[in-house]
This record gives sequence, structure tokens and C-alpha cells, in this order.
Amino acid sequence: MNPVIEQQVKDFRELVQKIKSYEEALGVMYWDLRTGAPKKGMEARSEVIGVLSTEMFKLSTSNEMGEYVAALSEPEAYAQLDEMNQKIVQECKKEYEKSKKIPAKMYQEYVVLTTQAENVWEEAREADDFEMFKPYLEKVVAYNQQFIDLWGAKETRYDTLLDMYEPGLTVAKLDEVFGEVRARTVPLVAAIAASQDKPDMSCLEQKFDIDKQREISLFLLEQMGYDFDAGRLDVSVHPFATGLNPGDVRITTRYDEKDLPNSLFSSLHEGGHALYEQNISKDLIGTPLCTGTSMGIHESQSRFWENMIGRSRLFWNRYYKDVQRIFPGQLDVSADAFYRAMNRSEASFIRTESDELTYNLHIIIRYEIEKMLFNEGLSVADLPAVWNAKYEEYLGITPPSDSLGVLQDVHWGGGGFGYFPSYSLGNMYAAQMMHTMRQEMPELDSYIEQGRLAPIKEWLTDKVYQYGKSQTPGEIIQRITGEELNPTYLIEYLENKFKEVYNLQ
Ligand code: ZN
Repeated sequence: MNPVIEQQVKDFRELVQKIKSYEEALGVMYWDLRTGAPKKGMEARSEVIGVLSTEMFKLSTSNEMGEYVAALSEPEAYAQLDEMNQKIVQECKKEYEKSKKIPAKMYQEYVVLTTQAENVWEEAREADDFEMFKPYLEKVVAYNQQFIDLWGAKETRYDTLLDMYEPGLTVAKLDEVFGEVRARTVPLVAAIAASQDKPDMSCLEQKFDIDKQREISLFLLEQMGYDFDAGRLDVSVHPFATGLNPGDVRITTRYDEKDLPNSLFSSLHEGGHALYEQNISKDLIGTPLCTGTSMGIHESQSRFWENMIGRSRLFWNRYYKDVQRIFPGQLDVSADAFYRAMNRSEASFIRTESDELTYNLHIIIRYEIEKMLFNEGLSVADLPAVWNAKYEEYLGITPPSDSLGVLQDVHWGGGGFGYFPSYSLGNMYAAQMMHTMRQEMPELDSYIEQGRLAPIKEWLTDKVYQYGKSQTPGEIIQRITGEELNPTYLIEYLENKFKEVYNLQ
């Protein structure tokens, strides 16, 4: 390598490492804030977070960064880089260009606005008052419209927002896949609503000691291969996983005495995110590639462990006896009855409390509405009416209040337009990967039923985890399954599962 370029790479990597260090420090601070930092320190801590975030933003948009990415992107220099450095340059260039297009003043105004909007949202939801939230939401939408103008609209305006969370994904593709999921989920949800053979929920309607809930969470996390020497389990209001580096990936769950499945599945879900981050190749540490490749692929890993493994009959054939052991005398129903109770499906208003089947309809509704906002001129004032009409059309229920409707999620207040589809993409990717996994590992079902989960984790490490962000979501799904995103696998998985749970023909 030309010595000038060699020096540039070295300096560039140092800058990248510095940015990553700020990011890790901020990660620890956020984790600390959400897992029990003393109330009186919060204000000062928020200030510190503000200062460090600004420093980090300045570094990633600095002239220095601009010069490195420009110099190293020159064909002659670029050709001399190894593949990993090429990818790091690409990634930094993308971030740099995106950030540089937004004037600093405008960005700061937007940060202040979204912080306010999130606070007002909380009050508005509490008061069930959409009018209170409306002016803030209108501004957040207007800012995002301006961002789209600055970044440049892709195929459609909403495509630009989607691309931030799922690089390469388009409205055209989502319309197609969500259309298929919707067309086959809506009649299944209706058939389940009409079914006379519903799971008996009484086994779950009792108090489960919180220390013991923690015990079963720890046990199952260990079974799935979560490395407690590279992580820990804590409590927070909203469960999350945070990957500081592959050797330190922390997760949280929440406990409610009257809701055992809540802590159980939150732990498995966050555990799935954590397995991904713990098993990224060590070579990627200190680079922007040392993270999940997209929201959708990240969510595929959490949902794979939570739903496809954790809500399966095979899994409970093996682990029900451990739940019985930890809660002696409390569960005298059969493993089958327990499994069915864990998989009750019912149309409901709140996305985060919905079941595996109806969940996707909650997401599709949000996707269609976001698209209307950015591509079709829907006004914020009309959101509640459109929201309620779609809930009636797809789920057969009309929210009795905006708190149980359009005001339920924080995402829009924070400007997270384009984020919601990730959740259902995760379900689709997960089902598609599992289809391939079963072909390549014919013993898969017996492994699950025996509690031999290590080969599953190894397969995912080999196919997904190790790559971090060095491959795009499209490249990953194509390489693993030999085809692009295909919703058929999820649809068939859900139909087979829920027809069986509800004894439908
Ligand atoms: Zn998640």
C-alpha cells in the first residue's frame, strides 16, 4: 500500500475508534439512566449526555472526516484498501453525507422539538387528548418532509425514510409483501374470533413470585446460550438490549406478578437481540460495522428466539417441567394446555400487548398511515379517524379512545417514521431463515424438543451474527436463503400454527 494512503487509513481508523468510544460511553449512560440511576442525578446526567452526543456528532461530521472519506473513496486509494476498510469508508461516507445535508441549526431545533413532542405525547396519552399532541406532531412531520427534500426523495418520498432503518427496502416491495400478509391474516383473525375452541387461560391467571420469574428468565437465557460473562439481566420499564461491544451486551426485562408471559417473553426477545450482538466477529470491534445490520434483521433475531423457538410447542414440551419446578404446585395443567394459553390470539387495541398473529396487522396499519402522511398528503388532523377505520377494517375492532388508538406509541413524537415496518420485517426474515435452517439441519425440531439449542445459536452465528453490519439486509437474506425477502414463509408458519392451536380446518 502507498505509504500516504497507509497513514490516512491509520488516522481515519483512529477517528472512527474515537467516535465508537463516545458511543460506548453514551451507551453505558443510557443503560444506567434506565436501570435505576438516582432521580436527583438525572438532570445533570442529561446535560452530560447532551454534551457528549454533540461531540460525537461533531466528530462524525468534521472536516477531518470529510477529508478522509473523500480521499479514501478515490478509486485509486479505495482499490488498495482491504474489504473491511472499504466497508468502513462506505459506512462513514454515507453517515457523513446524510448528516452534512442537514444544517446544524435545523438539527438542533429538531432535537429540541422531538424531546418536547415526546413529553407532550406522554401527557396527551394520559389525558386522552389528541388535540394537545397534534401541533407538535404536525411540526415533526413538517421537519421530516424537509429532511426528505434535503436528502432527496427516492422512488417515493416515504422510501427515503424507510431506507434509514432498512437500507435498500422500498415502498414497492413492502406494498407487495405486506399486501400478502394482510390478505391472509385478516380472514384467519376472523376465523379465530369465531372459534368455539379457545385456549383456557386460567393457568396463567394467578400470581407468580417475581424472584422466581427472574429465576426462570435466567435459566432460559442460559439455555439459549446468552453469555453472562459478556452481559447481565436487569429491570426497566421498557425492556431493551444494549450492545456496548461484543463482550458487554446488557439486557433488561420487566416483572409483573400477574403476568408471567410478559417477563418470560421479554427476556427471550431481548436475549435474541443480545445473542446477535455478543457474537459479532471480534475483528469488527471499534468500527461502525460492529452492530446489527438493520432494525429489521435485528428484530428477526429477537423474534426468532421469542416466537419461533420460545412460543413453539416443541420448546414447551421440553421446558414446561422447568416452569413447574420453579413454581411448585402452581401449574397442574398439561404442557399442551400451557402452550395453547401462551398462544391465545385475539384482536386487541395495543400493539405491544398483541399476540404473534395479530401483531403484523398493527404494523401494517401504521405503515399504511405513514405512507399516506408522506406520499399522499394525509393531514395530521385526520389521523385518529383513519386509524380507527383501519382497526375496524383489519381487526374488526374500533378503539374507544385515542389513548387506545393513535396515541399509543411514542415513535411518531420522536420522529421515528419508517421504523414500524422493521418489526414485521423481523417476523418475515425470521420465518424465512427458519425454513432454510430446517432444510440444512433436519434435526432442528428434535433439537428444540431436547433443549439442545447450541446448534441453533451456532447456525445463526455462522449465517448472521458474525457479519455485524458488514453485509446489507438484502445480502444476508439472499445469501442464507437463496432468495430475496419472501412473506410466504411467515404466512404459512402462522397459518399452520394458529389453525392447530384453534383446531380450525
Ligand atoms: Zn426488539
